[in-house]
Amino acid sequence: MTGVVQGVGFRPFVYGLAIHLRLKGFVKNSSGRVLIEIEGDSNAIDRFVDTLRYFPPPLARIDHLEVGALAPLGDPGFRIDPSIDDGSEGVLVCPDVATCEDCLRELFDPQDRRYRYPFLNCVNCGPRLTVVTDVPYDRERTTMAKFVMCAACRAEYEDPRDRRFHAQVVACPGCGPRLSLLDAGGAPLATEDPLTWAAAALRNGAIGALKGLGGFHLACDARSEPTVRELRRRKQRDTKPFAIMVADLAGAQALCAVSPLERALLSSVDRSIVVLTRRAGAPVAPSVAPGLHTLGLMLPYTPLHHLLLAETGADALVMTSGNRADEPIACDDDAPAQLRGVADFFLVHDRPIRLRCDDSIVRIAGGGAVPLRRARGHVPQTLTLTHRLARPTLATGGHLKATFALGGRTSAFVSHHVGDLGDYATYRVWLEAIEHYERLFRITPSRIVHDLHPGYASTRYAVERARAGGEELAVQHHHAHMASCMAEHGLEGPVIGVCFDGAGLGTDGTIWGGEFLVGDYLEARRMAHLAPVPMPGGEQAVRQPWRMAVAHVAYAGLDPAASPIARRLDSATLRAVDRMLARRFNAPLTSSMGRLFDAVAALAGVADQTTFEGEAAARLEALAAGVAPEPGYHVPVDRNGLTLVADPASLIRAVVDDARAGVKSAVIARRFHSAVVDLIVTVCSRLRSATGIRIAVLTGGVFANAILAREADQRLFAAGFEVYTHRLVPPNDGGLCLGQLAIAAARDAAAGTAPH
Ligand code: ZN
Ligand code: ZN
Ligand code: FE
Repeated sequence: MTGVVQGVGFRPFVYGLAIHLRLKGFVKNSSGRVLIEIEGDSNAIDRFVDTLRYFPPPLARIDHLEVGALAPLGDPGFRIDPSIDDGSEGVLVCPDVATCEDCLRELFDPQDRRYRYPFLNCVNCGPRLTVVTDVPYDRERTTMAKFVMCAACRAEYEDPRDRRFHAQVVACPGCGPRLSLLDAGGAPLATEDPLTWAAAALRNGAIGALKGLGGFHLACDARSEPTVRELRRRKQRDTKPFAIMVADLAGAQALCAVSPLERALLSSVDRSIVVLTRRAGAPVAPSVAPGLHTLGLMLPYTPLHHLLLAETGADALVMTSGNRADEPIACDDDAPAQLRGVADFFLVHDRPIRLRCDDSIVRIAGGGAVPLRRARGHVPQTLTLTHRLARPTLATGGHLKATFALGGRTSAFVSHHVGDLGDYATYRVWLEAIEHYERLFRITPSRIVHDLHPGYASTRYAVERARAGGEELAVQHHHAHMASCMAEHGLEGPVIGVCFDGAGLGTDGTIWGGEFLVGDYLEARRMAHLAPVPMPGGEQAVRQPWRMAVAHVAYAGLDPAASPIARRLDSATLRAVDRMLARRFNAPLTSSMGRLFDAVAALAGVADQTTFEGEAAARLEALAAGVAPEPGYHVPVDRNGLTLVADPASLIRAVVDDARAGVKSAVIARRFHSAVVDLIVTVCSRLRSATGIRIAVLTGGVFANAILAREADQRLFAAGFEVYTHRLVPPNDGGLCLGQLAIAAARDAAAGTAPH
């Protein structure tokens, strides 16, 4: 069988089942598969196969089970045979799993030999992907290889009745990894009990760097405003929200409204950060998530987290990625150097991290959970492509939220979130991750897919690698977004793709981002879009929404000097931008919806500057969420040849009027959200009339916005559309690589080159 069958207690489960049914034979791991031979009573064999098929162990997922008959060998008993490496692909290492209930009980049981041991785990929980060095999954191919099991651990490992039977990363205080403590400079700090020391330090307002599963966290008391502000200063992170770890569900409910679905998300074994609506007066420092109505909460997922929360007695600890600005998350020995000046102490251990992996982020939007960042706990996971790839393929994704995907036949392995490839260290980490995945999944790509944008580091890498041997395929950004959502749902198309994001290079050389594409994997036509507006200063406009406000105001035929933002800008700056617009100097055209959000946010006085992608939109959403629905501003849609063009000029004029009249920014934000939803419904309906297509997919980073996702989904559904949104990969650029792979596969199928 294939699927998630290694590192999830599968062989022990098979062993127990065979013994129970009095069957003889063996089970073994063979690179990508589990092989079983059994002989005995034929009824018992049927029950055996049915149990595997319908009731496998909780963490396992069987993708394929093949059964055939052999002549009986007369085996004397049932045994677990050593793993073999047959070089086949399709290996599935299990994602990292949060500490299970059984292990938790031991952790807090003074009589247990693993009492307060921060590295306890069993066959049902513990690190997996982050410690695996190669396949098949066995201790010698994990970063636990250097720890020699003690007699007691060995006995558990070999006892088929034990929960730690063949638990590859089993450990105890006698033989396993140990905690130690380093001071701010990275020098060892002698202490009896590093954990108690660290807990006390955190309680007293220190900022600690904690080595976790996929890298370091920076932790501090989430209630202390001076401490959180100091963390922001040292980490050079101005406003991007920090995640918070709470001890349990009750702790989460004290800070946020938690629906039953959100409760399930919080407590699932992948332990993602769940973006929740914060309660008024929640006891959290304002600097944790400035200007937002949400908090990102997660529950503890390692024994160390459980111990730390118990010992600090804290309701909530900030737990944010251990990095500075856009650098990769610190990992192992580089941490003290990388985080010098950021952390007051380092709580470390000697179990190496093989793969850097951030926490995952999910949010309820449009009736289901949308992954915003797919990483620890979610990867690896195979997604199945609608078409069969003719050759092993690597899709290199985007630039800012870098991921990549490896495809073999119909399987797609979408990587964890790596980060911003504009940072050279992050780019190196991305390259290493590609190499590691190629080894783990036994895929050597002979075709590389990339974005149209020649400036993306991922594009440059793809072109270079293809030149060294392999085929190359360029895919337009928003076509990839649309295909990504289609691929998740196994859609063949044609569909109407509502692709709203910040920026992606279009086929006409302008920057797109407010697009309605119609088509399938092979072809997508831009049938409607926002009217292009110049982006004064190019990339600078992304960090300075006021620039987009000036551009939109000018485009709407108003005088920027008389607009609501003029008061907050000095006249020289304003004149400079005016000149840029007039001469079209360094002012590329964009039809981006993200930039329209920026313009409105600046006009409403919500954000003139931003420090992270999508910040202005997040602030507008936060304001809109606090007021009752309002009718939207009008956005006329005109026909230009075969294409529909949505003109934001009248919307901008209405926003300016409202701002001048002193209408609350929350109301402006709400009217704007309604306008965008109206626009989606209007354009989709007109495209349906023109094409007969009634399937709409909502994709692009803008759909991380819960109000838009929910209302667009509801309104389109009410208008008779079949609506699809992202559930497996992020709507943002983190999901691009899946779409790129799906497009490559469909082209293979169309060319008839795919083997059957
Ligand atoms: Zn466990
Ligand atoms: Zn031991
Ligand atoms: Fe995008």
